[in-house]
Amino acid sequence: MAAEPDALSRREALEAHAADTAACTRCRLAQGRTQVVYGVGHPDADLMFVGEAPGFHEDKQGYPFVGSAGKLLDRLLEGISLTRRDVYIANVLKCRPPGNRDPQPDEIEACESHLFRQLELIQPKLVATLGNFATKLLSGKPAGITRVHGRPQEALVGGRSVTLYPIYHPAAALYTPAMLKTLEEDFARIPALLAGTPSTPQPQAQVIQFPVAPIPQAAAPDEQLGLF
Ligand code: URA
Repeated sequence: MAAEPDALSRREALEAHAADTAACTRCRLAQGRTQVVYGVGHPDADLMFVGEAPGFHEDKQGYPFVGSAGKLLDRLLEGISLTRRDVYIANVLKCRPPGNRDPQPDEIEACESHLFRQLELIQPKLVATLGNFATKLLSGKPAGITRVHGRPQEALVGGRSVTLYPIYHPAAALYTPAMLKTLEEDFARIPALLAGTPSTPQPQAQVIQFPVAPIPQAAAPDEQLGLF
């Protein structure tokens, strides 16, 4: 059996993959993007977050989660004594959909192998899927985030077994206090999941009927909808 690549080789391969991906033209989003938003963070992280797609600010700056949802993600990380440097953050789509619309199935299909390769090279133990798109793609199941959030599940991703941990997308929680509270509670369980400690059996995940509060009509350019 071939030896597992070591962390240094994986880091180099990740850099090479990021450079290749920067020139991707596999789908229509290549035409409207400022740049590919590949991912950021520790190349050998135990904890990886997977969001939906870059928004306005991410497209301009080239890093995921630098807008208002990113500020919330930073705050949630701080709450469990982590920073961005300790984790890896990526998205299902690497290019911004126009007007922050939902990713289309053919765009996800064109882009998914970039994410699978990232997962293969980073080898995280725990993958927190933020919202519906990442959860459905990586679990391979149609169950939505309101049903499965806060419930770790084992999955085979890129031939490796990982624990997926679906949680609400921070952009959705920005507008819905009940969702924010649930997101904070789900986040608080991450350290135990990372430590591999058997977590307290969770009661049936709370199902929040959407919408629980109206989403403002005039969304700022970095806000993404369709996250539920
Ligand atoms: N929302 C996402 O899903 N990803 C980002 O990078 C920013 C906002």
